Amino acid sequence: MEHPENDEKYKGLKVNHGIESLPTVNPYLKKRLQRRQYTPSEFVEGILKGNITILSQAVTLVESSRYEHEQIAQEIIEKCLPYAEKSVRIGITGVPGAGKSTSIDVFGMHLIGQGHKLAVLAIDPSSERSKGSILGDKTRMEALSREKNAFIRPSPTAGSLGGVARKTRETIILCEAAGFDTVFVETVGVGQSETAVHSMVDFFLLIQLAGTGDELQGIKRGIMEMADGIVINKADGDNVEKAKLAAAQFRNALHLFPLSESGWTPKVLTYSGYYNVGIKEIWDMIDEYITFTRNNGYFYAKRNEQAKYWMYESINNTLRETFYNNPAVVEMLGFTEKQVLNNEISSFVGAKRMMDLFLKDISEKR
Ligand code: GDP
Repeated sequence: MEHPENDEKYKGLKVNHGIESLPTVNPYLKKRLQRRQYTPSEFVEGILKGNITILSQAVTLVESSRYEHEQIAQEIIEKCLPYAEKSVRIGITGVPGAGKSTSIDVFGMHLIGQGHKLAVLAIDPSSERSKGSILGDKTRMEALSREKNAFIRPSPTAGSLGGVARKTRETIILCEAAGFDTVFVETVGVGQSETAVHSMVDFFLLIQLAGTGDELQGIKRGIMEMADGIVINKADGDNVEKAKLAAAQFRNALHLFPLSESGWTPKVLTYSGYYNVGIKEIWDMIDEYITFTRNNGYFYAKRNEQAKYWMYESINNTLRETFYNNPAVVEMLGFTEKQVLNNEISSFVGAKRMMDLFLKDISEKR
């Protein structure tokens, strides 16, 4: 018996066969729910009104590698530019486990409490491999993710570090146009990504941990040199003394560096993101830096320098992409590489042949 409940002994109970459910309840519903594509002007209008849904969709276009999306994205960015540039941009780096997400959550809540609007973006080169970004993930910033004045966006995943960084820089522009007056750009302190973040922020914050007693070990000199502030996290419980000691070691090490171009001496502070101790002092330091560099002009000079840097980065990327995607180059590159490997031609001759081939191909197409 298919349904034992229909047995004689269960009187008053009857189970019917029922019918198989349809694949879609209302076939027309999906069509209606499909998003209408906004025009670039509608995007800009929505962004300027601070509409987060429209901002998110525009960022998705910025991140897309499809040609038609790129075209719309560029138009939106251009139209947003006059309304951008108004935020304070802060880069935040630290090795995994340093407490970046915990700290960004409390830093962010502190700022929102002061009436600011905060965008949290990320550059995560590892996400290219793992196909999923760890940084900037909403689930890592519990309090912030519930705030309407916070916009959290994980790292774009596609492309090279340069490409990912460019997309983040463009996203900053959209966020600023949408009224976010503070932008965090988060990255993991393990490689080249700090340089990319440094090239788009006003203040660079390095989160460190006290631990082994040999605090400076493993920190690349370059990263320390970039930092405008070093903050030692987890200064709580038994760790307070160790954190103070680490801070003293960092201060000593920083003395050995030449004075930075900004004229600012990087500060070293201790705090506890988890227990919300020492947060105000960190923001006072950043405020002080911003006022100091605005007064001596460095703030604006650095932004100009960054704009120049991104123009050349963009040219270099376009040149590289055009070269490597050129059909004549694609056809001959492997063969030329083999010739170089077989010592039939030198690297320079190989390079020159490829360049000549490329230049000939594009001049013929003109
Ligand atoms: P991230 O990988 O840099 O983003 O680090 P997380 O914010 O995820 O923190 C890593 C771990 O350190 C988590 O288990 C946190 O709870 C812990 N943690 C973060 N900040 C503090 C702090 O101020 N004090 C202590 N004791 N633990 C912390």
